[in-house]
Amino acid sequence: MENNILQLIYLIASITFILGLKFLGNPASARKGNLIAAFGMGLAIFGTIFLYKNPETDMHLQHTGFIFAALAIGTLLGFIAAKKVQMTAMPEMVSLFNGMGGACAMLISIIEFQHLGNTLTNPILSTLVINPDFSAALSGKLMIIIAGMVIGSVSFSGSMIAWGKLSGKVKDKSLGRQQFINIGLLLVILAFSYLVIAGDGANTSLFFYLVLALSLLYGVLFVLPIGGADMPVVISLLNSFTGVAAAFGGFLYDNKVMLVGGILVGSAGTLLTIVMCKAMNRSLLNVLIGNFGGGSKGEAAGTSTFEGSIKEVTASDAAILMRYAKKVIIVPGYGLAVAQAQHIVHDLELLLEEEGVEVKYAIHPVAGRMPGHMNVLLAESNVSYDKLLEMEEINPEFASTDVVLVVGANDVVNPAAKTDPSSPIYGMPILDVENASNVIVNKRSMKAGYAGIENELFYKPKTSMLFGDAKKALTELVNEIKALG
Ligand code: NDP
Repeated sequence: MENNILQLIYLIASITFILGLKFLGNPASARKGNLIAAFGMGLAIFGTIFLYKNPETDMHLQHTGFIFAALAIGTLLGFIAAKKVQMTAMPEMVSLFNGMGGACAMLISIIEFQHLGNTLTNPILSTLVINPDFSAALSGKLMIIIAGMVIGSVSFSGSMIAWGKLSGKVKDKSLGRQQFINIGLLLVILAFSYLVIAGDGANTSLFFYLVLALSLLYGVLFVLPIGGADMPVVISLLNSFTGVAAAFGGFLYDNKVMLVGGILVGSAGTLLTIVMCKAMNRSLLNVLIGNFGGGSKGEAAGTSTFEGSIKEVTASDAAILMRYAKKVIIVPGYGLAVAQAQHIVHDLELLLEEEGVEVKYAIHPVAGRMPGHMNVLLAESNVSYDKLLEMEEINPEFASTDVVLVVGANDVVNPAAKTDPSSPIYGMPILDVENASNVIVNKRSMKAGYAGIENELFYKPKTSMLFGDAKKALTELVNEIKALG
C-alpha cells in the first residue's frame, strides 16, 4: 500500500516537472513553473523519506535526523545564495549548483559501489557470484554505477572550474595539444572502467578509485582551456551531463522520478546548448576547442578600419530626439545588467509613454551572458512582457522606428555578422537596428564586447554615442526628458 502511494507521488512529481518546464518557456509563467516543479520535488523527497521501504530489508529509511539536518542546511544555503546573487553573477551560481548535482551523482555511485563490495564480502552472498545470472546482474549494476560516477565527476569538477572562471578566480589555460591529452585520458578512463566491470575481480577497488580520480581530472582539463566567456554554453552542457548522471541514479535505485527528472534535465540542457550555439552561429566543437570570446572580454577594439567617425550625443540632445519621436525601440545588452540599469530603463519607458511615444524592447536570444538574461532582468523591474519582442518579431519594425536606444549591447547589433565573412560572428543573426532613422548607443567607451571585435554600427552617420555607465546615463536622460516638460 505504502509503495503504491509512493509510486503515485512519483508520478505526480514527474508531471509537475514536465508542467514546470512548459511554464518556464514563457517569462510570464516562469515563476509559476519554477514553483510547480519545486513543489513536485518536495513531494518526491518527503514521499521517499516517509514511505520508501528497502525491498531487501523491508525497512523505512534510517537516520532521518541526519537527512532533515542536511535538508535544513541545504535549504538555508540555497535561500541565502539565491537572495544575495546579483543578476550578472547568475551563470556562476547556476554552475555552482550544477556542480553540486554532479557531486551527488558521484557520491551515490561511490556509496553504491561500497554497498556492492559489502554484499560480495558477505560469505553467503559471495557464493552467488559464480551463478551466471547473478554475475550478469552485477556487471549491469557496476556499469550503471561507473557511468553515473564518470559523468557526475566530470560535471562536478568541470562546473567548479567554470564557476572559478566566471568569478575571475581561474584563468583560461591550455596545456598545448590539449585535445589529444583529453582524448587519451578518456580512453584510459574507459579502459579502467572496463576492468572494473568485466575484470577478474582483482584490484577492482583500485581501478574504481582510479576511474574516479581520472574523471575528476578530465572535468578540469575539459573546461580549463575553454574561453572564459564561452562558459554559459559549457555550463549548459555540463548541466545536461548532471541530468544524465542523475538518470543513471534512477536506474540504480529503480526510482522513476529520479529517472524522469534526470532525463528532463539531460535533454533540456542538450537542447539549450544547441539553441545557444545556433544563436551565436557556432558549432559546439568550435565552442569547445575554438577560442572565440576567450580572453578578449573588454579589450580595446584597436584602431578603427571603418569609414566615418564617432559622433557623440549629450543626454539633453538624446532626450529631445526621444521625447519627440513617435516610436522608440530599446535594445538591452550585457552592459545593462552590469550597470543594474533595469529599473531606470523602465522609468524611461514609462516617461516616454506618458508623452505619447510608443516604446518596445528588442530581445536578442543571446543578449547578456545567459539565455533569457534580458527577460529576467526586465521582469525584475516590472516591464510588461508584451513589450519584450523576440528578434524575429522586432526586426521588421526597425525600419518604421524613429530612435533605437542601444543600452550596453554590442555584438548583438554588430552588422559585421551580415556583411563580413571574415568576422568571428559572421552568420550570427543580429538585431537590424541600423534600419531605424536614428541609433543612440550607450556604453562607457569604445571597448569591444564579448566577441572582442569592433562594431561598424558605431561609425555610421545615423549613430550617435551616449558615453557613460548605463545607470548614470539613463538617469540623466530621464531627468532631461522630465525637464522638457
Ligand atoms: P556584449 O558583450 O557584446 O557588449 C556589452 C557591452 O556593454 C560592452 O561593449 C561594454 O562596452 C558595455 N558595457 C559594459 N558595462 C557597461 C556599463 N556599466 N554601462 C554601459 N555599458 C556597459 O553584449 P551583448 O549583450 O551585445 O552580446 C552578448 C554576447 O555574449 C554575444 O556575443 C553572445 O554570443 C555572448 N554570449 C551570450 C550568451 C547568452 O546566453 N546570452 C552565452 C554565451 C555568450 P564598454 O566597456 O565600452 O562599456
